[in-house]
Amino acid sequence: MAGDGTTQLIDEKGKRLDGRKLDELRPIEIKIGVLKNADGSAEIRMGKNIILAAVYGPRELHPKHRALPNRALIQCFYRMSTFSVNDRKSPAPSRREKEISMILSNALTSVILTEKYPRTTIDVYLQVLQADGGTRCAGLTAASVALADAGIPMKGLISSVAVGLANDKVVLDLFDIEDQKGSGDLPLGYSPILDEVSLIQLDGVFTLEQFEEALHLGIKGAKEIYEIQKLALKEKYSAIRNEVADEIKPSKKEVKEVPKEEVKEAPKKEVKEVPKEEVKEAPKKEVKEPPKEEVKEAPKKEVKEPPKEEVKEAPKVKEKEEKEDE
Ligand code: UDP
Repeated sequence: MAGDGTTQLIDEKGKRLDGRKLDELRPIEIKIGVLKNADGSAEIRMGKNIILAAVYGPRELHPKHRALPNRALIQCFYRMSTFSVNDRKSPAPSRREKEISMILSNALTSVILTEKYPRTTIDVYLQVLQADGGTRCAGLTAASVALADAGIPMKGLISSVAVGLANDKVVLDLFDIEDQKGSGDLPLGYSPILDEVSLIQLDGVFTLEQFEEALHLGIKGAKEIYEIQKLALKEKYSAIRNEVADEIKPSKKEVKEVPKEEVKEAPKKEVKEVPKEEVKEAPKKEVKEPPKEEVKEAPKKEVKEPPKEEVKEAPKVKEKEEKEDE
């Protein structure tokens, strides 16, 4: 929440209360894959802010009637731990937390390829462990890399930072006192690869020139954060690649040459020659030829020649008789 702008936030040398220049980011550290049970996770430290991001999904949505037929629903849950600020924060979700959850869900929806997962939900949990101003921006930056860690397809990463007014000067990356006492706060979410603004809010009063300057400064800061995000992702995946490479190729140390002395030839099995005497030829099995069946010649049937019919010659007509007839 922007203040009245009367508190001295910039000294004569143009330095801010924490010693930074007007266009300088706080130190940023991003770690990927810090939570074992999440599909993707990240931890961001931005100045004194410490925030965890955990991504679950795409998964089934409950209650089912909230599911969208043509795309995934992106649900972001921003929560501040009770111990994250000086005054104990009530554990009940505040209006502020609900509003931040909604704007972060919208920003993430704009870069995720939600149409790839219809009727599902992708849940992003942001838990602020320590707050020091600009937690929604740091949370959005962490959520973006946690989504990448979960393998959720995106058009690009979102890099986020707040720009504000401190003693009427535009300053980059507000920390808690500047956020409370400054006269303007402009949280910005920007995708360098798409050159698109996915989140912009404005609290306080900016002149047009201040607004334009703030926008340019915010984009410059987001581009710096983008490099840190890419580095964090590369670090994790190059570590995995090295691990895998080590598993495939055993290191030289592991390949120990066996000292020659130790190489004992396997003793040849003694082949005892069998004394010739003992070599008894296996008795040839008597191959008994099967007894030839006595082929008895079938007794020749006595072929009795039929008795020759006695051919009685016709009695010769006496020549005498013939002559008589004449
Ligand atoms: N803050 C707090 N108690 C709260 C909410 C916020 O002390 O219940 C502090 C906290 O340090 C936070 C800062 O106020 O970072 C600025 O809050 P703001 O609502 O502007 O959100 P932010 O700048 O963290 O995105």
